[in-house]
Amino acid sequence: MTKFDLSERTSPVPFITSAVATGETYDVIVVGSGAGGGQSAYTLTMDGARVLMLEAGRNYDPVSETAMFQTPDMAPLGGSGTPDKPFGFYDATIDGGWQVPGEPYVQTSTTEAGRFDWWRARMLGGRTNHWGRISLRNGPYDFKPYSRDGLGMDWPISYDDMAPYYDKVEMLIGVYGANDGLENTPNSPEGCLLPPPKPRVSDLLIARAGRKLGIPVIAGHRAVLTQQLDWKNSPAKLHPGNPGAQKIIADDMQRRLACFFATPCGRGCSIRANYQSTTVHLPPALATGKLDILTDAMVHEVTLGKDGRATGVGFVDRTTGKQMHVSARVVVLAASACETVRILLNSKSSQFPNGLANSSGKVGKYLMDTVGASVDGQVPLLENLPPHNEDAAGGLQMYIPWWLYQQQLAGKLGFARGYHVEFGGGRGMPSIGTAAELEWLTGGSYGAKFKQDARRYYGSFVGFAGRGEMIPNEQSYCEIDPVVKDKWGIPVLRFHWQWSPHETRQAAHMQKTFAEIIEAMGGRVHGKIESDGAKAIAPGGSIIHEVGGAIIGADPATSVTNKWCQTWDVKNLFLTDGSPFASNADKNPTLTIMANAWRVSDHILARMRQKEL
Ligand SMILES: Cc1cc2nc3c(=O)[nH]c(=O)nc-3n(C[C@H](O)[C@H](O)[C@H](O)COP(=O)(O)OP(=O)(O)OC[C@H]3O[C@@H](n4cnc5c(N)ncnc54)[C@H](O)[C@@H]3O)c2cc1C
Ligand code: SF4
Repeated sequence: MTKFDLSERTSPVPFITSAVATGETYDVIVVGSGAGGGQSAYTLTMDGARVLMLEAGRNYDPVSETAMFQTPDMAPLGGSGTPDKPFGFYDATIDGGWQVPGEPYVQTSTTEAGRFDWWRARMLGGRTNHWGRISLRNGPYDFKPYSRDGLGMDWPISYDDMAPYYDKVEMLIGVYGANDGLENTPNSPEGCLLPPPKPRVSDLLIARAGRKLGIPVIAGHRAVLTQQLDWKNSPAKLHPGNPGAQKIIADDMQRRLACFFATPCGRGCSIRANYQSTTVHLPPALATGKLDILTDAMVHEVTLGKDGRATGVGFVDRTTGKQMHVSARVVVLAASACETVRILLNSKSSQFPNGLANSSGKVGKYLMDTVGASVDGQVPLLENLPPHNEDAAGGLQMYIPWWLYQQQLAGKLGFARGYHVEFGGGRGMPSIGTAAELEWLTGGSYGAKFKQDARRYYGSFVGFAGRGEMIPNEQSYCEIDPVVKDKWGIPVLRFHWQWSPHETRQAAHMQKTFAEIIEAMGGRVHGKIESDGAKAIAPGGSIIHEVGGAIIGADPATSVTNKWCQTWDVKNLFLTDGSPFASNADKNPTLTIMANAWRVSDHILARMRQKEL
């Protein structure tokens, strides 16, 4: 393998400074630039570590490349989804989706119930450029699920260990929400959350129906700035005793504008009003002068020295196709849960013939996604509303946290873990699908009557999506396929997947609940309510909350990392994406990925200062 030499690159090289070319070594290599990689690079460089970030995708500039203001009629096919752009033409994803050309993966089953679909983004910032920005804290139960109901596994840390890092991440990225004091739905300390946006009419109707049914409907939590961040007070809380970092982040916070509630966040935000790694983590990290970023660098292995320490990583320079190597004192993998597993399993040596850090045999095991099921309905009360602006903050003004903890613990529900509910409605900008499929309401109409119907029903629909906890199981895992390789010659992953009755019954409960809410709103349910959860549940991976595969634990025989996400087998190798998750709470995982990455990076810094790494 060749040592990386910048002069060999034929295409423009973004961001990279001369450190790689001059042969300077780094304190830390961070693989991946999404939520986990971005947070790791931010925390490490703000405290003085010299970091090289390797990103498989291309550079991406959110200011010049974000199509925020275009209307759907300006896009091919009215902006609707295609295999290349599954979430529509304007979606911020570059070179990503369920399939990435030249980078296959193998599914052992293609059935709805047995398959795992793998979403990837190949761009600087990864999936954070277009994610939904829903940012919920895990609660105390979520770190100790086994202790609570005897299923799955406990994390070797508690909510109290993570809480200070949730505080910091919320203050840094900007999360709106409110403190409702509900069970296992933690409050944030004063000064962490931004005020939530005003609810839409449909949100208020759902809240009213919730009151009738005893279901709490509370302010959503999303990484969107409803007002400017507190750049006067937060920097000292984020970086105590570090005036240089405080100045950098205070300046940067002032350059981020507040949301103007008008454009879909999935396109990205060129005014930096929502969280993307590219707009929030990377600019201040680059401002430290301590971060180099090398894009188009497809890492395929962590290299190991004779002393059992990681020496660096091998990667394919996608601009030349050549095999390259870079070295550092510490290696942090944050390539997204499954890709981190793939790198570990492909890093074979005489010491680790079954993949690096895999003496437990657990690398690839206990892959989890979120349980998903949905129901839509139509509400006559919302028909023919006068035109008004309902663009709001791009999603989730309000939501329903899991509310049946006690009934569940008492065994009354027939499934062990809960779900939260994300819902939407209102008069969003009309697009190609607006006024389609009205026949179930109108019986079919044409001409003037159709126009009348389109106006009548526009904005009167509500949609509910359950997001529930999956319990890790032995049948859901990934491994290296013995035959198939990607276009770079790197062996690919093969996925195995199975839901347990806990998940399918939970999906059936979602269906029933959503129908009850729609009916309590005086509305009508669209389609059939599935009593068989196996038919209602979305395929594995399709909610795009995959975590696990290299789980954290207290015992090296049954886990891949210790409580610092440091691999048991290789002391200078750390994992800061979702791969170490030992459970996947109903709460969307990304806020926890970031809080954990900050926690782990603080630990790396402390150990490096002590010369223990
Ligand atoms: C449409 C959508 C909506 C979502 N909504 C939400 C939400 O509302 N809330 C929530 O919590 N989560 C949401 N998610 C999930 C969220 O995006 C992920 O949890 C989060 O981005 C994971 O961060 P990560 O750093 O692990 O991975 P990523 O953000 O995927 O970043 C990984 C990076 O590593 C790079 N990489 C991969 N392999 C290699 C390699 N071999 N070498 C070098 N680099 C590599 C990738 O190109 C990528 O840039 C959503 C995802 C999608 C797609
Ligand atoms: S809704 Fe607000 S945060 Fe989202 S893209 Fe538009 S301006 Fe940015």
